[in-house]
Amino acid sequence: MSDTVHLREAFAERFGGTPQLFRAPGRVNLIGEHTDYNDGFVMPAALEFEAEAAAAARDDRIIRIHSLNNGKSAEIDLDAAANAPRGDWTDYAFGVAVMIEQAGTTLKGADILVSSTVPVGSGLSSSAALEVVTGYALLSLSGHAVDTVELAKLCQKAENEYVGMRCGIMDQFISCNGVHDHALMIDCRSLERKPVPIDPKARIVVANSMVHHALADGEYNKRRNSCEEGVRLLQPALGDITALRDVSFDALEENRDFLPDLTYRRCRHIVTENERVLAAADVLERGDLKAFGQLMNASHASMRDDYEISCAEVDTLVAIAQSQPGVFGARMTGGGFGGCVVSLVAVEAVDDFIETVRAAYFEATGHTSDIFACAPQDGAGPLVG
Ligand code: ADP
Ligand code: MG
Repeated sequence: MSDTVHLREAFAERFGGTPQLFRAPGRVNLIGEHTDYNDGFVMPAALEFEAEAAAAARDDRIIRIHSLNNGKSAEIDLDAAANAPRGDWTDYAFGVAVMIEQAGTTLKGADILVSSTVPVGSGLSSSAALEVVTGYALLSLSGHAVDTVELAKLCQKAENEYVGMRCGIMDQFISCNGVHDHALMIDCRSLERKPVPIDPKARIVVANSMVHHALADGEYNKRRNSCEEGVRLLQPALGDITALRDVSFDALEENRDFLPDLTYRRCRHIVTENERVLAAADVLERGDLKAFGQLMNASHASMRDDYEISCAEVDTLVAIAQSQPGVFGARMTGGGFGGCVVSLVAVEAVDDFIETVRAAYFEATGHTSDIFACAPQDGAGPLVG
């Protein structure tokens, strides 16, 4: 949780003066994996893990940033002739500043000190939290009202074009627009969003597999290419489709001969996952936790078998989670090849679940999982305190 006194003191020590404070949460995705860049549906929730920033405007156009997480500092001059990416952590922050200015909004210089409780590189989106908190701080300090949908788009653009990661909009959108005690059903095409309450009888539990296989970024881009190939090959039969969002399961089955087998399976994950998210929003609203959990389990099988973005450790952790008493369902969450598993667990079973899963996963893999129950939070804003 945030220690605002420490943040203010650390800012005063490094930069001098009195800062304003801002926050932007990490997220867990309950269901809808890799559907965002297919114009589809996702259902994440913002976490109590968050990136926090102490920041103050400057009289010039220099942005100085320091991260308490890695102990590093950097600066950028917004008036420099060219501000190219540097290939390190600063791209997430400076990329947002560059994109905001490219969109025609003029920023003031600023001193920014960031500190994040989002585990880095674990699939809980520390990257989006860093982008969003930086963008929120810069806009606010420059006297601009923050449109959280526009900010999410600019942060995604920064990650796509400045960092070079072709992510969809889910992470930035939920960090900007999360709703306390709710998951957010997002239509990634229209960007319409609908908060869906989490039944108080259940808790979201996140378990970190503690592994992250290095091929993640390359494989991510390969999956995107397969989806784009699928759309291209289906277009002659299906007319003016622009994304897999436009393809029904029946249409996919009828036209599977147009697709190489691997492309077909990649597309089948996206098409069935979109259907699962729509069904999941429905059953969650009706309080049918059992049905929701079954959709989570089916989502994991589809990621493992059709999309092939899981890994041995995550499959082990999911299997352990799914076999516990009081669990409704469990699946990998995030981009894949490691990272975290999300489970929906009956409130009264949570303590035992955490203990048993940790022990069984350690016995199976030798890794000690960080496991915690989560309460969904509001999206980015000023940090009070
Ligand atoms: P995830 O978003 O799942 O945590 P990513 O690989 O997308 O994983 O983003 C992690 C990267 O984001 C880190 O390697 C680092 O460059 C950057 N990052 C995130 N938070 C911070 C922070 N508080 N300070 C410095 N760098 C950070
Ligand atoms: Mg990320």
